[in-house]
Amino acid sequence: MTRFSIPGGLMRRVMVAALIAVSTFVAAVEAPFPADHRQMSKTVSYGEMLTFLEAVARPGLITVTEEARSHQGRKVLLVRLNRGGAKARFRVLWYAQQHGNEVAGKDAQLTFIRDVAERPSLLPEDVDLYLMPMLNPDGAEAHRRFNGAGADLNRDHLLLEQPETQALHRVARRIRPHLAVDGHEFGRDSEDLTARGWEAWPVITMDAANHPLIPAYLRTAALEAVAAATPLQQKAGHAYARYSVGGPPPDEETRPSTPEVDDGRNSFGTLGALSFIIEAGVRHHAPNPQADLGERVDGYRILYRHLLGDRAWRDRIFKLSERARREPLPPFVATNTFWANLGGKATTVKVREKATGRTLAIPTANAMEDLVVKASVPTPKAYAIEPSAAALFLPILEAQGLRFERLAAPRRARVESVRLLRLEEPFDPLYQRYKDRQIVERQAPVARDLPAGTLVVSLDQDPGLARRAIQVLEPCLLYGLYGYPTFRALAVPGSSLPVSRLF
Ligand SMILES: [Zn+2]
Repeated sequence: MTRFSIPGGLMRRVMVAALIAVSTFVAAVEAPFPADHRQMSKTVSYGEMLTFLEAVARPGLITVTEEARSHQGRKVLLVRLNRGGAKARFRVLWYAQQHGNEVAGKDAQLTFIRDVAERPSLLPEDVDLYLMPMLNPDGAEAHRRFNGAGADLNRDHLLLEQPETQALHRVARRIRPHLAVDGHEFGRDSEDLTARGWEAWPVITMDAANHPLIPAYLRTAALEAVAAATPLQQKAGHAYARYSVGGPPPDEETRPSTPEVDDGRNSFGTLGALSFIIEAGVRHHAPNPQADLGERVDGYRILYRHLLGDRAWRDRIFKLSERARREPLPPFVATNTFWANLGGKATTVKVREKATGRTLAIPTANAMEDLVVKASVPTPKAYAIEPSAAALFLPILEAQGLRFERLAAPRRARVESVRLLRLEEPFDPLYQRYKDRQIVERQAPVARDLPAGTLVVSLDQDPGLARRAIQVLEPCLLYGLYGYPTFRALAVPGSSLPVSRLF
């Protein structure tokens, strides 16, 4: 986390700019994009971003720090916008481009930084805004989804094996945001849609975190904000919907994204932030997929500003988030959840007919928006990791910032071990879920000695981190650690998993 270095000459220019900014005079900032962001048709490259951020940094308003280096040695940067100093109590984290070829979230952030540099009053004094515009610079340079090690960063929030995701989580734990927003893009013209002569209707979408461990009042407030953005996007002429995944209507299922926690949205939701994902729709098969970048950037900016809200909104979210951070753990942990359509409600899914450009509303009963909890287990007091698996778990506990104790001597405890019956290999097209479901059986709790070298992770710690501990360690979760290659060898059907539940 070294300071971002600014050459001497540039520093003098920045100081002069800072002095000018104090007066009401507004100086135009040189930027690698048009003055009107809606005209953007080319994304900002890693190199252009570095030059721009060096030039735009100014003391007391815009601070740039390096938080990590990627596998290929590129900088993962954090940009802090703050003009209220200690008065800025509403902490916001916007992060984007975990997937290197999904660019609009980053571009929208950079245009916002330019605007604040030119007109600091755009940033409310009570907002402490942290931006990580390009989390995956290696992927951005190669214009591909994965990072320099070939990893999908937005499936790495459980294991935190990559330097980029580790940096994001260090930042999130340091600032403990009240509001967090992840930035992505999806393909509007996927093959299953084009086969029917359609493309996805929305150009900009948003969804809230939905993990059942996140307090319901936080999830409800977030979904309200998703709905409240509709008239704003309408006014700007952008097709907008709640983000969902799935196939074309009416036959295929559509649903919000998974309630698992291997992504950023649910990760920071459990830390107590009102947490969102934004996804803009790209025409990947168009002659120039970036021709309409300006429209996607505009859609993004509308959502970013909407989520910053007014003072009353920020005060409300500040209180909800602070409450969530102290919220005691629930007595039960949902371990098996799925999306359903309770009562078989008929809804419509909009698509765009490619030949005519018309919007079609297709009636369907396959929009699954109700999260059903099919199985739960009592919340334990702690988890115990057996000594033979400690080396594999230690890096995760450390990267997740979880407090743990390594037993120096045997300790008596009431231990519930969990036997793995099987790990399901194939993708299940009927269940429409990932493969690697772990089917387990809880054993009767027994009083026994945990051997020396056991790692004990107590849930009597910061509630946000305790929730993380459950998500990472709970062996009864339908989708747990053991589907990941690193942990695969620990999943031996018929044997106990290396993590047991303590009471
Ligand atoms: Zn993505």
